Amino acid sequence: MQNTMIPLTVANTLDQTTKQRIEAKPNQTLKQAVQAQNLAPQGAFDVYDQLGKVISGNNVANHRDATVYVGVAKVAGGALRGGFDLDDDDDGWDLDDPAPLVKPREVTFILQNGERHAAQPNPNELLIQTYERVVGRPRDGSPMEIYDNGGAVVSSRSAPDMVGRSFRVGLRQFPGGGSRSKIGKRGAFFSSGRQTVQPFPAKVPKEIIDQTTAFTQPRGRLEMGGLLIGHVDHEGNNVVVCGFFPRQDEASSGYCEFSGSFNAIASAACDFANERAGGPHTPSLRIIGWIHTHPDIGIFLSGIDINTFGILRRASFEQRSVAVVVDPLREQHGVYISEKKATNHDAGLAEAKVELSEDLEARYHKFLNRMRALQNKMGKEELPFILPGVLYQQRRAMGDVDDVMEAKLQALDKLHRQSVKDAETIRNLEQRIKAMEVSQISAKSSLEKLNTKLEKEVRSLQTKLGLEAKKVRTLEQRNEIFRDKFLAQDKKLAEFEEKVRALLPRLVPIFVKPSDESATSNSSNRNLGEKSSSPEISNDVDPPSREVSPPQPTSSNESDDVQTIDEKIEK
Ligand SMILES: [Zn+2]
Repeated sequence: MQNTMIPLTVANTLDQTTKQRIEAKPNQTLKQAVQAQNLAPQGAFDVYDQLGKVISGNNVANHRDATVYVGVAKVAGGALRGGFDLDDDDDGWDLDDPAPLVKPREVTFILQNGERHAAQPNPNELLIQTYERVVGRPRDGSPMEIYDNGGAVVSSRSAPDMVGRSFRVGLRQFPGGGSRSKIGKRGAFFSSGRQTVQPFPAKVPKEIIDQTTAFTQPRGRLEMGGLLIGHVDHEGNNVVVCGFFPRQDEASSGYCEFSGSFNAIASAACDFANERAGGPHTPSLRIIGWIHTHPDIGIFLSGIDINTFGILRRASFEQRSVAVVVDPLREQHGVYISEKKATNHDAGLAEAKVELSEDLEARYHKFLNRMRALQNKMGKEELPFILPGVLYQQRRAMGDVDDVMEAKLQALDKLHRQSVKDAETIRNLEQRIKAMEVSQISAKSSLEKLNTKLEKEVRSLQTKLGLEAKKVRTLEQRNEIFRDKFLAQDKKLAEFEEKVRALLPRLVPIFVKPSDESATSNSSNRNLGEKSSSPEISNDVDPPSREVSPPQPTSSNESDDVQTIDEKIEK
């Protein structure tokens, strides 16, 4: 039969209390079927199977009678990026033999005081009939109404069709009812126009912070995000008990993001635990919050964090979601119960003492066992860290893998390796300092040597210069002496010349007479011979034009004088 509708159950990944049985046309994809039923969240979303595999594009015919999970595409936290980035990455994974999820058989009624009653519907029973059979009518006879999560009245709906879901029971406020159903027009969950309700108080135990710190410290400055699993206690608190960190699609200092498929995995694991352990009064496990790290940047919720937190909170049943931020490097943390408080930096502390009943403990162990089995199957890369939270000691005693101790050992190992490296660096630095000291000393001594040499050279140059100056002075002196002598000689010569000139007039007639008479000349020659000294003098004086004659040292006394000066210079 080609036109037969395909029945399947659609569950909200964040709100496991809400499941919707739908019938889809055979040629639709799961995504189209979810959109056609108004069960899609705002923005980008995906449809997942119970193992977190994205099946948005699969044909509904392949998922007849199955439960599929609808949720956001990814969970992002970041201090740096401006906007919230959603896209339709299909990055699920295949498991060859997914364990079949046991179909739920009960509906849960949540009373206004927070009391929960699980009931197994009889065939053909209406929800209000199931409720009255199991819980009873109010004593004052006031009319009650059953509401679904979106506020729609579902009292007259067939109870067997509603198994696996939970409903709130309250007084019928308007006669005839139905008017509130408009609130839920868009669908049972993800109602876009829903107003933010008053935040519920949160109880976060210290163990969650300690284990997150131990696990994420070795990652240094890479942020990391994960999910917190918990329940609602009888006082209406959001109680965090455990959690896990999945593979990060993106991690940097300032941004972290993991796939929304882990929401589906977590809700399926919660379903698994809720169905297999605990009793009808045991609170159901659910995703109760979101945890991420801010390594060395302190505690606050960035714009993108507040956006993510808002989406998670509005998509959660009763808007119950808590955001925890851990700075593993500064060892600080903060607990935020609403976006408003986050905007005001109004963080609380994780200091709650969480005590669990035996039933509830058994439920959490089932959940943790399931997560461990998934981790073994998918590998530690997909599911790097399971936070056992308050059950840490018990899990250890039970022989469960101790992720916390492993993380601590890893941190120690990293520290050890770092300290070995540091020691080597210190040794290298010391050696370099020593080498520099040695070269400094040798440079200093060579500088000193050079200095001494220079000084020596300067001194010898100075001495040489002094000697040269002395020589110059001596030569100058010698020069002066010579000049004086020349002057004295000149003077003598002048005197001599004068004497000669004085003698000349007497000699003239002797020179004139021989040209007149030869007889007289003979006589005069005789006269000349008589005066033997005078011809010598006339020869010396002739020619008379010579005024300054070159110095001709004639006396032996003069040459002696020069010799002594030369000797002085030599000395
Ligand atoms: Zn952040």
